[in-house]
Amino acid sequence: MTTTVVNRIFNFSAGPAVLPLPVLEQMQRELIALPGVGMSVLEISHRSGTFESILAEAEADIRALAEVPSNYHIVFLQGGASTQFSMVPMNLLDPGTTADYVDTGSWSDKAIKEAKKIGSVRVAASTKQAGTVGYVRVPAASELSLTPGAAYVHVTSNNTIEGTQFQSTPDVGDAPLISDSSSDILSRPIDVSRHALIYAGAQKNLGPAGVTLVIVRDDVLERSRAKKATLPSMLNYAIHADNRSLYNTPPTFAVYGVGLVAKWLRAQGGLAAVGKANEQKATRLYGEVDRSGFYRGTADKDSRSLMNITFRLATEELEKLFVKEATAAGLDGLKGHRSVGGIRASLYNAFPAAGVDALVTFMRDFERRQG
Ligand code: PMP
Repeated sequence: MTTTVVNRIFNFSAGPAVLPLPVLEQMQRELIALPGVGMSVLEISHRSGTFESILAEAEADIRALAEVPSNYHIVFLQGGASTQFSMVPMNLLDPGTTADYVDTGSWSDKAIKEAKKIGSVRVAASTKQAGTVGYVRVPAASELSLTPGAAYVHVTSNNTIEGTQFQSTPDVGDAPLISDSSSDILSRPIDVSRHALIYAGAQKNLGPAGVTLVIVRDDVLERSRAKKATLPSMLNYAIHADNRSLYNTPPTFAVYGVGLVAKWLRAQGGLAAVGKANEQKATRLYGEVDRSGFYRGTADKDSRSLMNITFRLATEELEKLFVKEATAAGLDGLKGHRSVGGIRASLYNAFPAAGVDALVTFMRDFERRQG
């Protein structure tokens, strides 16, 4: 068996995204037969002791990484973060109560639209600007107009498309804070205890697509438990938590992948070290974006994301050429989201610093030729 790596290029995709090479190599080594098991992880029962250990270890490693307090459950679900847009209000937004949403980008907007189908929603702040500008920042704490007694406050910690990010956990007072952390989960230290619920699709910072991580506080689970008889079981957090993510067949390979990534993150030194590395990568790239005026960052500086670095060139033609030449140079996935255009470099946990160096070199060369 060979694990020779042939022609891996730098993958700036916003998700599914680059995975750590040692994780891919381990998957490759173990794909035909898990050591001591003689079967692939793709072939074993989710009820087997082997898979139960894989699941338990993944949970334990995430718990250790994020210092998840004991009054929180970790569950692995399916349906992507998009299903969470519905599950959150179905479980937690009761008639006669209102949920506050902070609107900071296209994904918050989608979460709001789905929640409105379930119950009463108030937009506690929106940073959407008129016209084509869209969203370029997250709000300051002083801009949040929170509903007293709100069922919860929903935020998007990192706006994948717009390249903005809350620089720290927003202060929502005593209200239960719910965070869509799909694009910055486990990318820096996080104070889980300030949240009622955190959810994230795995396919950016955590592992392969197909599994969604939910970290939920026990008092929030009680609100779901009260709905066991009425809410569809698959959409009830308490049912999944009470069955330790084995209510039905979980996405076994994706959970295995998340487990491997969690171990890799621990081996990097945990979230403090990973956060520092992410900051260094992003700082280097923003430095280049800001250097001469040839490139123009789209996000306000105090809202800039460490995960998705978005910038523009003078014309769309130049942007097209930039993406085309970058791709030819082995820098893939730099085209901005179709809704906003421009360039987007996603620098998730597994993205190597050498890839940022390569992009910076390419940007300088492109500017020299086109500037
Ligand atoms: N929220 C955010 C912040 C995202 O970036 C995405 C995916 N790009 C989603 C939600 C939707 O996730 P999924 O495709 O897993 O449903």
